[in-house]
Amino acid sequence: MISRASRLPFIAHAQRHGKRTAVVDSQGSFAYNELLDASSRVATALLASRNDDQRNEAQRNKVQRSDLQEDRVAFLITPGFPWVAVQWGIWRAGGVAVPLPLNSTRPELEFFIDDAQASALVFDAQAASLLAPIAAARGIRALPYEQLLPRQSPDLPDIVPDITSDVAPDIASDRRAMILYTSGTTSRPKGVVTTHANVAAQIETLLEAWEWSPDDRILLCLPLHHVHGIINVVSCALWSGATCHMLPRFDANAVWDCIASGGVTLFMAVPTVYVKLIAAWDEASPQRRAELSQACFRLRLMVSGSAALPVSTLHRWKEISGHILLERYGMTEIGMALSNSLRGERIPGSVGRPLPGVEVQLIGENGALVSPGTPGEIEVRGPSVFGEYWRQPEATRAAFRRGWFRTGDTAVVENDLYRILGRTNIDILKTGGHKVSALEIEETLREHPAVAECAVVGVADPEWGERVAAAVVLNKGDALDLPSLRIWAKDLLAPHKVPSLLLVLDALPRNAMGKVMKPAVAALFPTAARGDSIP
Ligand code: AMP
Repeated sequence: MISRASRLPFIAHAQRHGKRTAVVDSQGSFAYNELLDASSRVATALLASRNDDQRNEAQRNKVQRSDLQEDRVAFLITPGFPWVAVQWGIWRAGGVAVPLPLNSTRPELEFFIDDAQASALVFDAQAASLLAPIAAARGIRALPYEQLLPRQSPDLPDIVPDITSDVAPDIASDRRAMILYTSGTTSRPKGVVTTHANVAAQIETLLEAWEWSPDDRILLCLPLHHVHGIINVVSCALWSGATCHMLPRFDANAVWDCIASGGVTLFMAVPTVYVKLIAAWDEASPQRRAELSQACFRLRLMVSGSAALPVSTLHRWKEISGHILLERYGMTEIGMALSNSLRGERIPGSVGRPLPGVEVQLIGENGALVSPGTPGEIEVRGPSVFGEYWRQPEATRAAFRRGWFRTGDTAVVENDLYRILGRTNIDILKTGGHKVSALEIEETLREHPAVAECAVVGVADPEWGERVAAAVVLNKGDALDLPSLRIWAKDLLAPHKVPSLLLVLDALPRNAMGKVMKPAVAALFPTAARGDSIP
């Protein structure tokens, strides 16, 4: 067993919080001590299995036995105590954690595993039929979680292999900790590598800004292959000695039940989650609605991020819950960068100001700083910013300018507050010589009584450069055509912002985080470039 205190701050904090509850999941409650014990066992098993793999006797020296030396360990585990035990176990053994997305197809998983050059795969029973054959086909070590931690059942023998050395690796903070895959719009997903120091900085800025305390209890309903769930929810909770209630997946009624139980003080989610919670609230009986709203009043903070929060959703959520959602802006590569204030006024449509320790600037097309009121690309610098895309030195170089990370997002500063205008290459449309923000047009279209959801994209056009194209999902029983939409919109939008193409869809294409996939939306429209006939 790994017994010596390692320098990982997570471990040092957890040791202080020993008997407090760290995680609550469908299997029960787990104290920090149990997390320390389980992650130590995972680390021990990972190190032992690696040594078993070393065929060459000469290589069996002490250093190799006691440190994975940044081997990538990919894992596919349903959110809950085992997920955290494995993540911490990989870190304690000196490995790089590569959390895989649930609900991925086999080719997608193979891509992540091959790209990361994973040397071991850890999975739970649900993922075994998918991952075991992938591991076998590649000769990668397959480590079922149930075998790593047989302790869950007291009747099972303790088969966790012992290692002769009890030396836990000292993990220097500049070592790689994690690879998260982030989808490119045109290329395959890239592995965003964060060091232990990056992870610590991403957590610490949020602990300070949102005043986390050991008395906090947060509900996780987000997937655990993304910075939002991993850093903002789980890691912030466990760094502060708080409790994380983990749902295996998002389910609106399960979330409402948990909020209604009075067991949480904090909630963080993406806008789509709030939309689904609103729909479930609308469907509940008047008495249940009152109960749910009452329960929300007891939370101290509710946060939205990872995509633009429609102002209409913010207002509706305020009516239901009494909370003005705190909107923040962040990215896999940088953690969180901008946030509305915890105690001050929260401005709908704004993402506030830079978080502590995070430097943000807006740069115009000429490469110079823009003045307030003028849109520019968001650049970020600071200890939370990642170091590299995994095995992609060219992409890494291109992502930085003079030491600042170029986010690819456009924003504007108004009244000292940042407002996000969207992805520079996707949401900033160039039509008839004007630059327009798709997010602004979407905000307006959502006010149309027939529109439930919408996504605006630019569609290449020889005359206009790009045409403003709107894909909408309508409220049940409503109808909408382009001429009537245009007449309605002309009172609210400048002529060049009024959509000239309209598609009515049953649902918008969204990714696992609930974000609208704009390239997929754009592909639904006919374009001159493809030789399609355009109305
Ligand atoms: P990801 O790396 O998956 O977290 O995606 C990051 C991207 O989500 C950013 O580059 C933005 O385009 C978008 N994003 C995150 N937060 C916000 C927000 N509050 N408003 C608008 N877009 C956001």
